[in-house]
Amino acid sequence: MPEYDFDLFVMGVGSGGVRAARMSATWGARVATAEDRYMGGTCVNVGCVPKKLFVTAAHYHHDFNDSRGFGWNPGSPTFHWPTLLENKNQEISRLNGIYKGLLDNAGVTHFDGRARIVDPHHVSIDHDRVISTEKILIATGGWPTIPDFPGNEHVITSNEAFYLEQLPKDVLVVGGGYIAVEFAGIYAGLGVETHLSYRGPLFLRGFDQDIRETVRDELIKKDINLHFDSVVAAVEKTPDERYRVRFTDGTEMTVGLIMVATGRSPSVHDIGLENVAVETRENGAIVVNDAFQTSVPNIFALGDVTDRIQLTPVAIAEAMAFARSQFLNEPTMMDYDHIATAVFCQPNIGTVGLTEEEAREQYANVKVFRSSFRALKHTLSGSDERTLMKLVVDADSDRVVGAHMVGEDAGEIIQGLAVALKAGATKSVFDATVGIHPTTAEEFVTMREPVEV
Ligand code: NDP
Repeated sequence: MPEYDFDLFVMGVGSGGVRAARMSATWGARVATAEDRYMGGTCVNVGCVPKKLFVTAAHYHHDFNDSRGFGWNPGSPTFHWPTLLENKNQEISRLNGIYKGLLDNAGVTHFDGRARIVDPHHVSIDHDRVISTEKILIATGGWPTIPDFPGNEHVITSNEAFYLEQLPKDVLVVGGGYIAVEFAGIYAGLGVETHLSYRGPLFLRGFDQDIRETVRDELIKKDINLHFDSVVAAVEKTPDERYRVRFTDGTEMTVGLIMVATGRSPSVHDIGLENVAVETRENGAIVVNDAFQTSVPNIFALGDVTDRIQLTPVAIAEAMAFARSQFLNEPTMMDYDHIATAVFCQPNIGTVGLTEEEAREQYANVKVFRSSFRALKHTLSGSDERTLMKLVVDADSDRVVGAHMVGEDAGEIIQGLAVALKAGATKSVFDATVGIHPTTAEEFVTMREPVEV
């Protein structure tokens, strides 16, 4: 008789949890999972997937306008929010079922309920049933944070944004990271008068400076009202069910909806961490070593709850490395280098490797290749949208250490470049690569002259 009910108990069935459970079970482990919210976690339910569907919906706005220069007369297109919401919800339900099927087919035992750690080898479900397990994996993800100001009970986060009964006439988005910038584009594209308030002088901190400035300029062209150096002091509800926002500089604004996107913190509340000596950082993030092991040797954690890189593909890759190491007897380290990301603002950002600023800190001689142009499509569409493409090169080794783009399909284009950078491609390799004409992407292999610095 095995000593424990299961070899592995996974808390949370988001991107990381499902992959870890499924692969561990496939490789012979007896695995259980528990979840008290939704199958598939943030990405599937209130993150990447519905967000991308909303971005697509918003983009039609620009497509209808652009089509006129090509001879189309789209008339006066109208948008029906309930249709989008219902179709999106149906798709999410379908995905919930697929995720459940993935676990079932792998032979994972799933519990609908809240799992809490009782001791290093026991987990309770809804304070009721207690399960014994050799190993525990905490993959509980993250949760939006809301800044502390009077009236913050009136704001919503991205969680609620996916289920609004109706779109407001006007909205204030607070924050300057991925979610704020993406949702500002969604609201504006769907016809909502959109304001974005960011506390610093320029949003998207951490991205390449040229990228940040280009996105700023493009969002302004898309009629998004950007408010930088802007901090919310208080919010109050008006008698007509709107929200009056007071900023610390004394200015005011009244809008129909306020959405904050000011970061996400690790979901460690009420999971029984107080019962074990698992070390956490100040923000609650679970501290793990390279093998995802916490300070309690048989308890592991991965994904957003460890607050390293909050991206679905990272959680999935971590889960693969974890399962491979633990149940396939193939010790596998996660490689965090050259992780490409996209921000699905309009036009979107694609980026991989070092920003110019980071490269200049790390390398003595840096060459920068940059191209800013109007895409072929916009010669007829009449749109003044510009595309920015940029390569950052370590001049001594000739290696391309960063690739950045703002433009249509940047998120799609940058994936291929991530492979090149991961493979250590030099600028000479880029130069020797024949472009695909006429595309925007070909610009990445035809930039010959570095910019003067
Ligand atoms: P981010 O960490 O990207 O951005 C948070 C923003 O909120 C920053 O601009 C930050 O400002 C600001 N902020 C933080 N605290 C406060 C505060 N108290 N008051 C006012 N502003 C504040 O978080 P998001 O919420 O946008 O997204 C969470 C994570 O989810 C991202 O980091 C990303 O990893 C992931 N994600 C990825 C997506 C993708 O891959 N396309 C899409 C959406 C999310 P400052 O910079 O000054 O600190």
